[in-house]
Amino acid sequence: MTAHANIQALDIAAIRSEFPILKREINGKPLVYLDNAASAQKPDAVIDAVANVYRHSYANVHRGLHTLANEATEAFEGGRDKIAAFLGAERSDQIVLTRGATEAINLVANSFGQSLKAGDEIILSQMEHHSNIIPWQLAAQRSGAVVKWCPVTPTGELDYDALMGLMSEKTRLVTIVHMSNVLGTTNDAARIVKMAHDNGAAVLLDGSQSAVHLPVNVSDLGCDFFVFTGHKLYGPSGAGALYAADDWLDRLPPWQGGGEMIADVFEDTSTWADVPHKFEAGTPAIADVIGLGAAIDWISQYDRIAVMEHERALLDRATRGVADMDGVRLIGTAQDKGAILSFAIEGAHAHDLAQLLDKYGVAVRAGHHCTQPLMRAFDVTSTVRASFAIYNTPDEVDVFIEALNKAKSFLI
Ligand SMILES: *Cc1c(COP(=O)(O)O)cnc(C)c1O
Repeated sequence: MTAHANIQALDIAAIRSEFPILKREINGKPLVYLDNAASAQKPDAVIDAVANVYRHSYANVHRGLHTLANEATEAFEGGRDKIAAFLGAERSDQIVLTRGATEAINLVANSFGQSLKAGDEIILSQMEHHSNIIPWQLAAQRSGAVVKWCPVTPTGELDYDALMGLMSEKTRLVTIVHMSNVLGTTNDAARIVKMAHDNGAAVLLDGSQSAVHLPVNVSDLGCDFFVFTGHKLYGPSGAGALYAADDWLDRLPPWQGGGEMIADVFEDTSTWADVPHKFEAGTPAIADVIGLGAAIDWISQYDRIAVMEHERALLDRATRGVADMDGVRLIGTAQDKGAILSFAIEGAHAHDLAQLLDKYGVAVRAGHHCTQPLMRAFDVTSTVRASFAIYNTPDEVDVFIEALNKAKSFLI
């Protein structure tokens, strides 16, 4: 089947009808939700899965011997299995369940970070989300390691020559976003992994956006660590994961201590549970992980390439509409990019534009998008960002463009 035939197979109206919130009106106008890169809306399948756990099968996981504890544990571990399959991991015990991408990166920064020595180098890029910056700054402060920055080009691509130049025998880890939440740029993971591995360094990919917009297979990518967050993938907030390749999890020390992560506790010492539980202290986000499993089942019924093409068509339509306006500067014009459109308009503050768009029912993001170093690299303090999901339509793009034109003429 050709990609085009697959596009025809996506019934967007039917998909939309599964998202109750999309029926809402905002300020008397139909909601046009284009803030998906911040968080996506949830289909009935996810809402029902979460409600059903609480209604029928809720108990704490792993430690009970009663029926409900067994049911909850099975559904919860089922969530882990679904995440593993979705990401293309070889085994479910390579998946640590976390509260999101942020917690997953903090886990690596604290655990892998314990092996950092003064003078070791961590390379990250100017297009990182703050959650892939701050944990490394903290790890560097603790260890004396040094954070090195790979610049981005004017089109919003990684400067791969500069990246190559930063690599040395001091490089311990290259930690880079797989798809930028501002520029939409898809970074060349294979190229990054090859460069890093040739220099004996590990690679962490922040897949918070790529896991939503691309078919991802961590085994093919060859990265050491991959993190993502469920709420951008139509799942509940509060559940995400870390994937670690090979025997990384066996080799790394735990980071948070508490219940569930131990084998035996004595007054003077303790031993750890098997992986991945060694990294999962305390009661986890039980219902949210089960909801994330439901979200993965839901998105997996669609051809990921068809979803990509649908989102790409929305991006192209929106990009044309925005680029046609006077005084517009697009931020992020890479060839290979996901359905995320950032721009600035001369003389109109991003926050004012977003507030006016809300009057027309259009939800977009305005601000620094947790990427202040990137904003500085482009010499802006904020952008407007429209980001697209499977349930968005060309008509919604047109409403957005029309509203943006009105908002702009109001401000300038
Ligand atoms: C959203 C996002 C994060 C952080 O995700 P949380 O759910 O807040 O943990 C990290 N990196 C990127 C690229 C993101 O888009």
